[in-house]
Amino acid sequence: ATQPYDDQNIFAKILRGEIPSKPVYEDEFALAIPDINPQAPTHILVLPKGAYVSWDDFTDRASDAEIAGFVRAVGKVARSAGLVAPGYRLLANTGPHAHQTIGHLHVHIFAGRPLGPLLV
Ligand code: 5GP
Repeated sequence: ATQPYDDQNIFAKILRGEIPSKPVYEDEFALAIPDINPQAPTHILVLPKGAYVSWDDFTDRASDAEIAGFVRAVGKVARSAGLVAPGYRLLANTGPHAHQTIGHLHVHIFAGRPLGPLLV
């Protein structure tokens, strides 16, 4: 990992239930919550249950079962939210240059309007 995992990050507190949230999906591997500052009509964050700083950390250290379970959970979130037919975008900002602001891996799901070309 590029940085150690800080278990005081806000998503860790949400996963521990120390900060209330309204999950739209939860299973053994993942918790999905609406983004507090949505950038699209549907903007969901999918968090792995394990303590991983980033996509890099996750793909480096997580077990195959955790990786499979988390990736499958992202698909389930999108399906259960009815996003498949209209379509959706996945994004995982990784590191400071990519504007990752919270040190627990989160995959963004954007949907609900035409998203246009990817902006970088
Ligand atoms: P990043 O820039 O790290 O990829 O995305 C962090 C996301 O977390 C942002 O879209 C931001 O709005 C969201 N966020 C920050 N704090 C909270 C919070 O306390 N609850 C929820 N649900 N989302 C948050």
